[in-house]
Amino acid sequence: MENVLDILLWYQKNFRELPWRVTNDPYKIWLSEIILQQTQVKQGLDYYDKFVLKYPQVSDLARASEEEVLKMWQGLGYYTRARNLHKTARIISDEYQGFFPDNYAILSKLPGIGDYTASAILSFAFKQPYSALDGNVFRLLSRLYDIDLPINEPKSRPFFKNLLDSLIQYANPSDFNNAMMEMGAMVCRPDNPKCDICPVAVHCLARKNGTIKLRPVKSKKVKTRVRHFNYLYIKDGNDFYLVKREGKDIWKNLYQLPLIESAGLMDEKAMKDEIALAWEPSIPYSIGKPQLSRHLLTHQTIQAAFWELKFDRRPAFLDDHYRKVNLKNYTKYPIPVLVENFLLSLSH
Ligand code: SF4
Repeated sequence: MENVLDILLWYQKNFRELPWRVTNDPYKIWLSEIILQQTQVKQGLDYYDKFVLKYPQVSDLARASEEEVLKMWQGLGYYTRARNLHKTARIISDEYQGFFPDNYAILSKLPGIGDYTASAILSFAFKQPYSALDGNVFRLLSRLYDIDLPINEPKSRPFFKNLLDSLIQYANPSDFNNAMMEMGAMVCRPDNPKCDICPVAVHCLARKNGTIKLRPVKSKKVKTRVRHFNYLYIKDGNDFYLVKREGKDIWKNLYQLPLIESAGLMDEKAMKDEIALAWEPSIPYSIGKPQLSRHLLTHQTIQAAFWELKFDRRPAFLDDHYRKVNLKNYTKYPIPVLVENFLLSLSH
């Protein structure tokens, strides 16, 4: 109880005035929460402004094509969020006449909305007492109460959630959730917590027990998978080809250069063999040295090689699925940052 009041007082004096904190509009609150997952506030703010400007109402977002939404999202990563954002906008627009339901059971079943986002919407927009447990709050609770349960294991979640639920009853739900998250983000930071200005330092058990550096506990990381992507920059005069990425994998529905995924790095001969196996090109072509690049995702490392191929005319294997573009007009397509960086390097 004392902890809660101290944190609320600190929040009233120190909170950052962010646009989604000064609105009760569930659409804007939801939008901000989806954008801010896995994203820093500074970067998220730019995207939030861009989305609100283009889609002021949920119905505007619902009317957009998925391709347009993916393009707007480009650079934020975790594109499933964008696809779910669009799906949910359509459901809210079509089935709920554009009004977000103020009901946990309904909200938490919508695409991309789990316990955290449903609780954030219900507390911020509708002032209902649902506690929102994000990474910042996990860390703050772990230290404040010196909890040694691993925060990245689902079985620990009920313990933290019950603790948070027992605290939210002492406060306005919206202020409480905002204050806890802001404390985690600004004071009880991951590497260098600012204990000297912390409003709950006197109650902090990790500080008392000398375990701050050990909290929060995280169980061993999932092994990162290394993948080798060979992108083909197939030149046809001033043009080249993009193709939509399909299947259940990263970057679904984004556009990319034609791709051959291999088990390891390939030299020119191996690459030519792969091309022959994949497409049997019937006309001669030249192949240049690859440009190498590395891209880190949460559980995957992409080792990319960009190969430049030149054909005299469009080869038969590039059927209608492949869009012919050039360096001036490819930007209208949503493209993974890894590929866009390569294309940008060509235009400089
Ligand atoms: Fe976090 Fe330090 Fe405050 Fe404890 S005293 S809650 S470790 S900032």
